[in-house]
Amino acid sequence: MKMPSHISGSRRGCWRDCISGGSGSYFVRRISVRRVTSAAAYAALVLVGAAGMLPALAVAGATPKAIFIILDGIPADVIERVSTPNLDAIAAVGAYARAQVGGPIGEPGETPTVSAPGYMSLVTGTWANKHNVYENYNLSPNYDYWNIFRVAKAMNPALKIGIFSTWTDNRTVLLGEGRPNAGDWRFDYVADGFEEDAIRFPQQPLAAHVALIDNLVSQEAARVIEQDGPDLSWIYLQYTDDIGHQYGDGEVFDKAVVDIDTHAGRIWSAVMTRQETYSEDWLIIVTTDHGRDAETGREHGRHSERERTTWIVTNSTRLLPRFKQMPEIVDIFPSIARHLGVTIPDNVARHLDGLTFIQ
Ligand SMILES: [Zn+2]
Repeated sequence: MKMPSHISGSRRGCWRDCISGGSGSYFVRRISVRRVTSAAAYAALVLVGAAGMLPALAVAGATPKAIFIILDGIPADVIERVSTPNLDAIAAVGAYARAQVGGPIGEPGETPTVSAPGYMSLVTGTWANKHNVYENYNLSPNYDYWNIFRVAKAMNPALKIGIFSTWTDNRTVLLGEGRPNAGDWRFDYVADGFEEDAIRFPQQPLAAHVALIDNLVSQEAARVIEQDGPDLSWIYLQYTDDIGHQYGDGEVFDKAVVDIDTHAGRIWSAVMTRQETYSEDWLIIVTTDHGRDAETGREHGRHSERERTTWIVTNSTRLLPRFKQMPEIVDIFPSIARHLGVTIPDNVARHLDGLTFIQ
């Protein structure tokens, strides 16, 4: 980032071993290409481009779309120090801010700075005392606290949703796709299960297979987004956290951050292509699920300042002042809902621990 300004490795292994995920399938459901809905809006977009303005700026009346990307376990000081030209390009349209995870210390909402609890806090807009995910294993999410995909499908069944993920449990367990007690909704586009395919992606030293999976996941996400433009997508990439656990702070971790930035760049490129082609107003939010310990960078889970301090990069031009006042991971759900124009039903809204940072 150019500034204007999981616990131990063995427990990560347990995460893999202790959770039975999906079938290891990779599939993309239902292909539908949405064309430009308004010739006038498209003409206006072309004019904006011709005027030399940023291609990612959308026109009024354009169809809202949203993507959130989690790049696992990158502390704010690292993302600010390492060269990340693609994140810089997104922030040049919108903004970068430091953010926070972990919930209120010493209160019921205090949430471990651990991966799965972090993802759950993002997708439900609540802390762990509500979503009930405190670890990466033995998962028993409380589905009474609806996630953003369930809300989107419930409020507008026509919305198309996608997940592109290096960890299958995000879809099958945390979000509870297809589970009757989790609302029995389905993704329209899925690319996951690769980490369970030991033939295609055999375990390699230093998590090299995870790097290959992240690469594929980001390619598939970019392809589907550019081709079909799902209304709401989650992209989850993991390699940085694996490297953090193995190497801690240093050159190897920095290189992993550089590499993951190129993956984010693919997504951003697909978004810009969509906005140049269709009358669409894309929101992209890139964040991380926790920082790392200050001593070595190998650990996380506690509530030190470095473990709690994260960051958000977004292209949004509708940011409220509170975006620059340490927004929290639980603020992302209501912010995306606001951008999409999805009304959060009262039975969900009254439990949210976050507030929108998008007007
Ligand atoms: Zn993590």
